[in-house]
Amino acid sequence: MFKSLLIANRGEIAVRVMRTAREMGIRTIAVYSDADANALHVREADEAVHIGPAAAKESYLVIDKIIAAAKASGAEAIHPGYGFLSENVAFADACEKAGIIFVGPPASAIKAMGLKDAAKALMEKASVPVVPGYHGDIQDARFLEGEAQKIGYPVLIKAVAGGGGKGMRRVDDPARFEAELKSAQREAGSAFGDERVLVEKYVSRPRHIEIQVFADAHGNAVYLHERDCSLQRRHQKVIEEAPAPDMPEDMRRAMGEAAVAAAKAIGYRGAGTIEFIADASRGLRADAFWFMEMNTRLQVEHPVTEAITGTDLVEWQLLVAAGEPLPLTQKEIPLEGHAVEVRLYAEDPANNFFPSTGRLTRLRAASSDHIRTDMGVEEGDEVSMHYDPMIGKIIAHAPTRSLALAQLRSFVLDMEVVGPKTNLSFLAAVLGHPSFEKADIDTGFIDKHLAELVPAFYLSPEVVGAAFIGHVLLRAKRSRAAQAQTSDPWSPWAATDEWVLGGHRTEVLKFIVNGEALSLPVTPKGKDAEFVFNGVTHSASGSLSDDGDIAVLVDGKRVTAAMVSEAHGFTIVHRGANYTFTVPDPLDVDVVSDGDTGALKAPMPGKVVQVLAEAGAAVKRGTPLVVMEAMKMEQTLAAPADLVIASVNVAAGDQVEAGAALVVFEQKADQ
Ligand code: ADP
Repeated sequence: MFKSLLIANRGEIAVRVMRTAREMGIRTIAVYSDADANALHVREADEAVHIGPAAAKESYLVIDKIIAAAKASGAEAIHPGYGFLSENVAFADACEKAGIIFVGPPASAIKAMGLKDAAKALMEKASVPVVPGYHGDIQDARFLEGEAQKIGYPVLIKAVAGGGGKGMRRVDDPARFEAELKSAQREAGSAFGDERVLVEKYVSRPRHIEIQVFADAHGNAVYLHERDCSLQRRHQKVIEEAPAPDMPEDMRRAMGEAAVAAAKAIGYRGAGTIEFIADASRGLRADAFWFMEMNTRLQVEHPVTEAITGTDLVEWQLLVAAGEPLPLTQKEIPLEGHAVEVRLYAEDPANNFFPSTGRLTRLRAASSDHIRTDMGVEEGDEVSMHYDPMIGKIIAHAPTRSLALAQLRSFVLDMEVVGPKTNLSFLAAVLGHPSFEKADIDTGFIDKHLAELVPAFYLSPEVVGAAFIGHVLLRAKRSRAAQAQTSDPWSPWAATDEWVLGGHRTEVLKFIVNGEALSLPVTPKGKDAEFVFNGVTHSASGSLSDDGDIAVLVDGKRVTAAMVSEAHGFTIVHRGANYTFTVPDPLDVDVVSDGDTGALKAPMPGKVVQVLAEAGAAVKRGTPLVVMEAMKMEQTLAAPADLVIASVNVAAGDQVEAGAALVVFEQKADQ
């Protein structure tokens, strides 16, 4: 076994790989960009090598820099993680030339599976079922449209070099084909440097079921059962589970054997995943699944497989890379219980899941024997705009699916994440959705139920009560601290369960919550207090601990929440949701004014890809005006109302800051 390993990646996967390497007594070497100088994966590594500027293209994606870092640190092997260079043929080759072990398949296998069109052709030859469609060389729009017609709508356009759902468009209406093709090609060009696409039949009621395969250098190949990754948004996985709900045993065997055949057909070695699409319109059946693609690396969702098989797949990868045989034979691989994983993202479900960035002023979770957390960051770390906005993954393993779902949901609801916006309450809503609990799923699940899964902002008396008590107690704590400059400023706090309001009369507290002004009349009543919210009087009492935990009784009901102070107020975290209370500064009139409908602003820093707005045009609410790319995702910004465009301030290719006015609207004349 080699004694040193460089991890050519960042975030949770780098941390994950290091954990196993360390357990195996292997020295770990991290690489990092300017933006990651103090990142968790750097802190966790035995050694770290700087490889350049923040932009991945100038650091994590530069083969020469990674090889140079490996040589400088004396690394005997390189683990590429996922994404970045993990499926890059030139990188696997470069490792070999430099005499460094690449923890992954042979370059030839990556190449065989790298492009979706060639992979489909190869699988057809190995008698693995593939999705019907056109995967040839001709890229002419007319021709592809003709092929789509032959296949029959709906069809799916896919980037040949695709990954992560990028460059993929479903087309239902032939009239939309050309526009969608252009958009897919543009996205594919910018994401992969390759505009070519294929067109295939869109499977109805599709379920995404993939098989984990493993092969060694001694001719052994096994499958470690399936993962169901049907819960997706824009073709990106959100929740994954193993085994697939309601999977018949004969289908599991048929898929497993097809996957092993696929791996053998390309002389595979190491960890790989064969992705299939299954037609669930008449339930899962052994004759209704088709090959989609092979991922020649470790997957984000590998922990659910580890949970049900009791294996450590990174350990297997390192063993195989060192030339050892697979630790288990097919018959010895167990399938125990049920595992579910959710991906925690820094994104805003209420704003079309737009990526969110910033410092994680709080990141806390309970510790639990049933739950595994694979995090890429810790409290205090930054989620930057330069990389994927995934914060980490949370995985539950239990004897049954319903138990795993319940445990995961309650764990997620107890998590406290403040700073960037996250999909936490969205994940909890999916886990608790009755159709998901019944496993009535397909890849359209999230879109279909979106309205229920992204709950409208709702401020409850419980949250207002917790906020009011937290605010008053914190204010009292601060004023006591200011007065008691001599003694320990914290000591009087333990004794404080008394309200310190402005005298004993009613005081009106003012906040801005979610952009709306909230006036809260509060009145002390002995040790308790009353507050009036939405015209109803409620009673409240409670306490605030030093680290921000609030325990309150609102109308006699026990509520626990956390409070995180911020520059202009605080955030209350309650059951997986965050409520930001801004305390208006009486001297700063602007905080309250909300006259921002005059312009379309960039929601975050990024690049303008396309400008559809024209000065002077009258546009309807929802009309697409600007297409932006940020954190590698395209986002269409639309008119917020029926408006007239006064001026357009940007052009395609411009780099813009968050808040930049991209399009300015005319002051509206009388209705
Ligand atoms: P990527 O490499 O970009 O992740 P995939 O080929 O793996 O692309 O497909 C991603 C997802 O798109 C699948 O999980 C599935 O939900 C959906 N999908 C792919 N092909 C089809 C198809 N022919 N019909 C219906 N859905 C599909």
